[in-house]
Amino acid sequence: MGFVQLVENLIFPPKCANCGEILGIELTKKQIDALCKDCRAQLEAEKAIECQRCGLQMQFCRCMPRKMEKAQCAALLKLVLYRPSDDKMKIKPFIYSIKHSRNRASFRFVAEQMRGLLIPEMRAYSLAPADCVITYMPRSHKNKAQDGFDQGLEMAKELSLITGIALVRCFKRKIFSKQQRDLNRFERQLNMSSAYSLLDIEDAVKDKTVILVDDIVTTGSSMAACARLLYSAGAYSVLGVSIGITEKKQKNKAQKD
Ligand SMILES: [Zn+2]
Ligand SMILES: [Zn+2]
Repeated sequence: MGFVQLVENLIFPPKCANCGEILGIELTKKQIDALCKDCRAQLEAEKAIECQRCGLQMQFCRCMPRKMEKAQCAALLKLVLYRPSDDKMKIKPFIYSIKHSRNRASFRFVAEQMRGLLIPEMRAYSLAPADCVITYMPRSHKNKAQDGFDQGLEMAKELSLITGIALVRCFKRKIFSKQQRDLNRFERQLNMSSAYSLLDIEDAVKDKTVILVDDIVTTGSSMAACARLLYSAGAYSVLGVSIGITEKKQKNKAQKD
């Protein structure tokens, strides 16, 4: 840890992004942890919860929503089953903070966790970093304006840095004249599938396995829409990587994805 960073850490002691506890500063460590020991343990426990569909622990489960299957996604890797209304889930504040506070330590931590999911997958398919590219689905302009950053981009950047896989900005978010909540379910779905358009990426994804980074996957419609665009640009395969997948919400609630 450099002197400037040390002084900074003494004045503004880093806190656990989940419980807020002040973290001890270890001089030997290059960077500050995002979570305290207890919250890390909570996350590990969440990663070990078994998927109801395949029976594997969430960290090994490759299940994905039907929409992503239909769009020929290879798999959806995830750390946890996100249960916003379950009090037993103790790492909700951390997941919330990823969306709403720009904390590099958190993005780096999530990227490290994602790398843990990704490396065995790449090994299984004999994929080298050069065979892959990383991309993300941009947030809506409104959400981005509210928080001042795009967590998808931040996570993708860190993942690219620690894996050596190139980051390619592939999508542009369209601006809609009508609010999503003013639309019916059918219109909303149609809207989501056309919410993204491809940027001029030339041959950047051609024959590549594209790693699509997102925080929480709900219906999978955004990932499915983006996967279709990537295949249309010549991608060999599309692999989703996320913090979590969430249970289906009540019917009349607005779909968020
Ligand atoms: Zn904590
Ligand atoms: Zn599963």
